[in-house]
Amino acid sequence: MQRILQPGEIETLDHTSFPRVLLPVTASLFAERAARVRQLAEGNPIADYLQFVAKIMDAQHKAAAGLTLAEPDAALMARAQEHSMPLLPAVENIAPAWQGVLDAMLDTLQGDAQSAGLPAPLQPLLQELRNLPAEARDDIARKLLQKEVAARHVGMAPFIMAALQVTFTKRTASLKAQDVPYTDPATICPVCAGEPVASVVRIGGRAAGHRYLHCGTCACEWQMVRVKCSHCESTEGIHYQGVGGAGEEVLAETCEECGSYRKIVNQEKNPMVDPLADDLATLMLDLLMSETKFQRASPNPLLYVAFAEEQDGERDNALIDPCA
Ligand SMILES: [Zn+2]
Ligand SMILES: [Zn+2]
Repeated sequence: MQRILQPGEIETLDHTSFPRVLLPVTASLFAERAARVRQLAEGNPIADYLQFVAKIMDAQHKAAAGLTLAEPDAALMARAQEHSMPLLPAVENIAPAWQGVLDAMLDTLQGDAQSAGLPAPLQPLLQELRNLPAEARDDIARKLLQKEVAARHVGMAPFIMAALQVTFTKRTASLKAQDVPYTDPATICPVCAGEPVASVVRIGGRAAGHRYLHCGTCACEWQMVRVKCSHCESTEGIHYQGVGGAGEEVLAETCEECGSYRKIVNQEKNPMVDPLADDLATLMLDLLMSETKFQRASPNPLLYVAFAEEQDGERDNALIDPCA
């Protein structure tokens, strides 16, 4: 005799179902990322740079804890859902609260009686950023989100981007996964329209074994089958390259169709991997890839400092060591 199943029972029977979207948990994301960066700094040719980034992530963690955001615009989200557009595109929806996040991060990074901040040579830059009028900060923020970085703002860029990450991550964390639309193209974030910094093969629960693209701006993760290029969605000509002897925790996924590469980090190889942290710490792989025909699909949102120092010709920076 047949029995009618209730909706909840049907879901339990469907072992093939997996989450389409994974939303970030702000209480742990930045702290875990900082810990991972410190772990990866050991014996790394760019250890000093990674320690610097870890301090920014500590400041992100602290600022995230004290942040309360206004409810996102329901009408705007409904319109986006109807048209399969990203829910709240970052450039047009910067919460004013991001200014307070930046100030809170600057407090941490300038240091106080309890904790040391960033090294003295970086303090004038932090002060300059603190003195900047809100409109000027907003203007740089909008430009950064559109990847238009003026040379004179390159030094400030990672701090501004880090504050934006906290704000956008907190907003994305407050959403419900079912509110996140299916968007086209599937290569940009369905929440903020940002680019993935890398992709990650997850372990644990129903997400296990599935590959997710990780948004560099709001930390939303959305599923994409592994056979597809995360940049042009081609299913032809996908290959993987890694650094010899470095294992398969982080590989460059290359695409013959669009000529790009993006890193894929694998929790099945190491449960500790973090898409953004592991991407930063494997700059060696980018240096090796720069000798191939493949172009990096999208930048790491916190890497402006490295580029700045290279542009300024300060060749004594630790970043340069790997190519020496
Ligand atoms: Zn996003
Ligand atoms: Zn491609």
